Amino acid sequence: MNGRRCVSLQYCNYKRLPHGAPLRYNRVMNILVVEDEKQVATLIQKGLEEQGFCVELSHNGSEAFDLATTRQYDVIVLDIMLPGRDGLSILTNLRRNRNAVPVILLTARSELEERIEGLDLGADDYLTKPFYVEELISRIHAVARRTSGDQLSILRAGELTVNLITREVKHQDRSIRLTAREFGLLEYLMRSPGRVFTRTQIIEHVWGYDFDPNTNLVDVYIQRLRKKIRGDSDDDLLETVRGVGYRFIKL
Ligand code: CA
Repeated sequence: MNGRRCVSLQYCNYKRLPHGAPLRYNRVMNILVVEDEKQVATLIQKGLEEQGFCVELSHNGSEAFDLATTRQYDVIVLDIMLPGRDGLSILTNLRRNRNAVPVILLTARSELEERIEGLDLGADDYLTKPFYVEELISRIHAVARRTSGDQLSILRAGELTVNLITREVKHQDRSIRLTAREFGLLEYLMRSPGRVFTRTQIIEHVWGYDFDPNTNLVDVYIQRLRKKIRGDSDDDLLETVRGVGYRFIKL
């Protein structure tokens, strides 16, 4: 099989969780990445593995279909134009066979119709190329959360709890009201405790791509968020990493 790195899925499930792995899933998530542009595929694989996902790569649609029907994945990242068998045909057949594995389609800008068709056929989300791996990671978390119910809907750190469904935020039993951006910022940092994010990464993720990178928007929001979370306590969960950016501290 092309580019297969994991010894076996069983190995994947039990290997030690690397730093920053999505621990709240209680085990490593298995992702099938189907992409025939090898450079893109390798970049995705690297990015996901750095975040602790176990990745299998396939560059061919027929092979990918066989994998998808014989193995268990938490999420499939599926390109549309592929040699062997195209992504939409794979998706159609999975859904016809009542296989509900979450699927994120990768589409080119010109493939608007395919994108719409893909969502109609039961894709859970799509991403237009080119994209940042961080964006793909957050989509994977989102679809995994949507499809696996309640236990994944609450993020906890010390005395702070964040309910991703009701969007309630509490610190030491005190409810905190956050704006949508503040919530997005907190969720983004809190999902990867200990990991430092640059201002640019934060802006791209929380605000979208079209912001002046020299703005002090992020600093203002972090200060505001800090104050709201802290209340009267001296809990400081958001750490400034001088010259780099910010991180949610690892407790
Ligand atoms: Ca392709």
